[in-house]
Amino acid sequence: MTIELTTADAVGELGSLLRGRVIDRSDPEYDEARSVFNGMIDKFPLAVARCADVADVVAAVNWAREHDVIVAVRGGGHSGPGLGTVDDGLVIDLSAMRGIRVDPVRRTVRVEAGCTAGDVDHATHAYGLAVPFGIVASTGVAGLALGGGTGYLTRQYGLTIDNLLEADVVLADGRIVTADESTNADLFWALRGGGGNFGVVVSFLFQAHPVDQVFAGPVFFDLADARTVARAYRDFLPDSPVELATFFGLKTVPAGEPFPAEHRGKHACALITCFSGTAEAGAAALAPLMDLLPEPLFDWRGEMPFPAWNQAFDPLFPKGLQCYWRGDFVRDLPDEAIEAHIEQAGRIPPGAVSLMHLYPIDGAVHRVGRNDTAWNTRDTTWNMVILGAHPDPDAAAGLEHWVRDYWDAVHPFSDRGGYVNFMMTDESPDRLRVTYGDNLERLARVKAVYDPDNFFRVNQNIAPTSTAA
Ligand SMILES: Cc1cc2nc3c(=O)[nH]c(=O)nc-3n(C[C@H](O)[C@H](O)[C@H](O)COP(=O)(O)OP(=O)(O)OC[C@H]3O[C@@H](n4cnc5c(N)ncnc54)[C@H](O)[C@@H]3O)c2cc1C
Repeated sequence: MTIELTTADAVGELGSLLRGRVIDRSDPEYDEARSVFNGMIDKFPLAVARCADVADVVAAVNWAREHDVIVAVRGGGHSGPGLGTVDDGLVIDLSAMRGIRVDPVRRTVRVEAGCTAGDVDHATHAYGLAVPFGIVASTGVAGLALGGGTGYLTRQYGLTIDNLLEADVVLADGRIVTADESTNADLFWALRGGGGNFGVVVSFLFQAHPVDQVFAGPVFFDLADARTVARAYRDFLPDSPVELATFFGLKTVPAGEPFPAEHRGKHACALITCFSGTAEAGAAALAPLMDLLPEPLFDWRGEMPFPAWNQAFDPLFPKGLQCYWRGDFVRDLPDEAIEAHIEQAGRIPPGAVSLMHLYPIDGAVHRVGRNDTAWNTRDTTWNMVILGAHPDPDAAAGLEHWVRDYWDAVHPFSDRGGYVNFMMTDESPDRLRVTYGDNLERLARVKAVYDPDNFFRVNQNIAPTSTAA
C-alpha cells in the first residue's frame, strides 16, 4: 500500500513537471497510450510521458533517473520487439514533437524526433526534396534513423544515417548536447547505427536531395515463376543505375481491394520498383530486366509524386498487426538459396501479410567505410527481412514458427550479421557482436562515456565497456 501511494505521488510529481501529458494507469487513455505498432506486444508501463518539448524530455529523464525507474524511448513505436515500451517503467513518448523545418538553400531538413517518415516526405516534397527513409511512411524517423535506415533512395543517396548531419541529444544525466562531425564526434559516430543506446535524440538534421516524381510500383508474378524472376533480378541488379531501386519479394497477393479478386491470397513473387525520374526513363532503366521475365499477374508501375509511392503500402500495415520478424544481410544469392526461399515462401500462412524482402544496400552505401559509422556491414548486397504479419492474435504462434523455419533454411546462405532494426530480442546473444563486428568495442567505449550506468537499456543493448563481459 505504501509503495503504491509513493508511486502514484511520484508519477503525479512528474505530471507537474511537464507541459505535455503524463498518462498513468488510471487514465482512460492508458490502453491507447501503452499500445505500440506490433499487436503481439502487451506491456504495462507505470506511465507514458507524452513530451511536448525538449525541456519535457529532460524532466522525464531526470525524474526516471532520480526514482530509479526504467525508461523506454518511443519515436514512431514501430519496433518489432516493442522497444518503445516497457513493463513497470516510464515511456518517454516523443510522438507529440513533430516540428519540421526545411532549408531549401542548403537542402537540409531539421526534424523533431516524433515525426514519421511520411511527415518528412510531406514537408520536403513541397520543395522538390526528399530524405532516404524506408518503404512505409508511418514508421518513426527516430528509431529507423538510429538503426541505419534502408529504403527506396538508399542506392542513390545512402542509408538514412549517411544523410544525418547533426543530432540534439538528451543524455542520461539530463544534459543536452549536439553531436556532429566536429562536436561530440564519437557520439555522432555511434548514433549512426548504434540505435537508442546513447540518449534521447530530440531532433535530427538531415541532408535532403532533389527527388520529385518517381516511376514506381509493384509487379507481381505467380510463385511458379519465382525462380526465373529471382535469377534475372540477381543478375540485373549490380549494373543497374542507382536511381533505380528494385527489391525482390516473396509473399501472397493481399486479400482485398485494390488487388484483383482472381489473384487474392495466391502465393506470389514481386519486384517492387522505384525510379527517381520520368516514366519514360524509368521504363527504359528497367527494360533489360522486364524483357527477360514471364507475363506478370499484374504490373502497377506508374509515374507519381514520391510521397504518394512512399505511403502506398501503409494500408497493408495498420497498427495492431501481429508481427514477428528476422533478418540477415545477404551478399550473394546462389541458385540453391533461391530454391530454399521458394520452398519456404510456398508455406506462408493463409490470410497473412507475411513476406520476405531483399532490399538492395549497394551503390552509395558502399562508398562509406565500415568504420566510418557504427553500421559495419557495408560491403554486402541486400538487407533481408522475413516478416510474419497477420491481423488475428490466434495466428501469432503460427507466424513465429513460419519465420523461424524460413530463417533457419536461408541463414546458411547469409552474410555477416543482420540489420538491428529487423531483430527481435530473442536471437542468439552473439548476434549484436557479429553485426557490429570491429565497431562493437568502440560502441561500448562511447556508451561508457555517455551512458555509463546503462540507463538507456530498452533497445538492442550495447553494454558500456566497464560492465561488458
Ligand atoms: C511496417 C514496418 C515497415 C518498416 N520498414 C522499414 C524500412 O523500409 N526500412 C527500415 O530501415 N526499417 C523499416 N522498419 C523497421 C524500423 O526501422 C524499426 O521498426 C524502427 O525501430 C522504427 O522506429 P520507431 O521510431 O517507429 O520505433 P520505436 O518503437 O519508437 O523505437 C525503436 C527503438 O528506437 C529507439 N528510439 C526511438 N526514438 C528514439 C529517440 N528519439 N532517441 C533515442 N532512441 C530512440 C527506442 O528506444 C527503441 O529502442 C519497418 C518497420 C515496420 C513495422
